[in-house]
Amino acid sequence: MYSELTLIFIILLLFGFILEKLLELLNISYFKKPLNSEFAHYFSAENQQANLLYKQSKARFGLIQSTLGFIFTFLIWKFAGLGFLTQLITSFTSSEILQTLLFFGVIALGSSLVSIPFSLYFHFVLEEKFGFNKMTIKVFIADLFKSGLLALVLGGGIMALIVWVYLAFPTSFWWIVWILITVVMVFMSAFYAQIILSVFNKLTELEDGALKDAIETMAQKLGFELNRIYVIDGSKRSTKANAFFTGFGRQKRIVLYDTLINDLETNEILAVLAHEIGHYKHRHTIKGMILGILQTGILLYFLSLFINPESLLTLELNRVVAQDDSLTQPAFFLGLLGFGILFSPISTIIELVTNAISRKFEYQADAFATKNGLADSMISGLVKLSEKSLSNLNPHPLYVFFNYSHPPLLARWTAMKQGENII
Ligand SMILES: [Zn+2]
Repeated sequence: MYSELTLIFIILLLFGFILEKLLELLNISYFKKPLNSEFAHYFSAENQQANLLYKQSKARFGLIQSTLGFIFTFLIWKFAGLGFLTQLITSFTSSEILQTLLFFGVIALGSSLVSIPFSLYFHFVLEEKFGFNKMTIKVFIADLFKSGLLALVLGGGIMALIVWVYLAFPTSFWWIVWILITVVMVFMSAFYAQIILSVFNKLTELEDGALKDAIETMAQKLGFELNRIYVIDGSKRSTKANAFFTGFGRQKRIVLYDTLINDLETNEILAVLAHEIGHYKHRHTIKGMILGILQTGILLYFLSLFINPESLLTLELNRVVAQDDSLTQPAFFLGLLGFGILFSPISTIIELVTNAISRKFEYQADAFATKNGLADSMISGLVKLSEKSLSNLNPHPLYVFFNYSHPPLLARWTAMKQGENII
């Protein structure tokens, strides 16, 4: 079984990698495809030229980074790097909780160290060249430490809890962890702005003035109880702009990037906000969370089948991950990693479904803005954002199908135009 399972691993790893590359190549083949002529009107020739150059630079960078990353990971696994790490860790401590934390800690640390040069190049060369980067080296380093610390505390804490449940309740593991993770997810979703965002950014309440008055008037008209509007200092890192809705219940809040306020006219900001309120009216946050909870349940149930210490399959899977067929004692962390790879085709399908649902939510939110007479402002706002961020105006439909959580601008524009005509 060892060699068959190793072969399955190789096939799955290669399949995932090749699929990703094929989609990227298809997308590249669309780079020079002319835009729909009515739609192309919004973008100047210079902007379209810059857009093409940016797409090409990013695609080249992405191809190199992901190919090197794949080869590196593959070689480490095939030459029993994980087996070596397992030996090292199990000889160091017999606590399974500590072993798991060390195992994933070393992998996470290793992969983030390897990715630092790529990340530096991306922000300080590529994004810099197109005028997007606003990050200083100091912010870059601070971000690295903060995200590492957050991963250590949050990721490490959740992981320790999972292993503890696995050891204490081996047979009912999956549903107990499901309940615990659900509680964490609901909590994090409600307090995302306070817990995660505030670590990396400064959030301030939108100051009194014409914009705030206009927003309040609109929220009232749309029947949206506005708790607080926050402004986030996105300009600390990039010139790109955004807005989003976070939290639920009394914690719900709208967050605007300072760059959005600078770049858009009031009516465009109102349209973007109406879109966000549309998400709220359609209960997208709650629906998204329920989907996430269901997904976690499925994942944990299947995981429980691959980490049963009594089963031969678990032991074989452990041996394949470690690339050591003399391994006698299965370890939770090896089973978890092995499961991640065996489950990857199903993960891809789940992601496809999630992305399709998310794109549907975006159309619904746009339709809400359109219904409230804001289609033109929404379109001009989105066009401006797209122009500034040089977003891909012509992605390949299959690439969108697999990777996009938001519909491309052209599709949104078409839908809003149609929506406007119906009304
Ligand atoms: Zn949206």
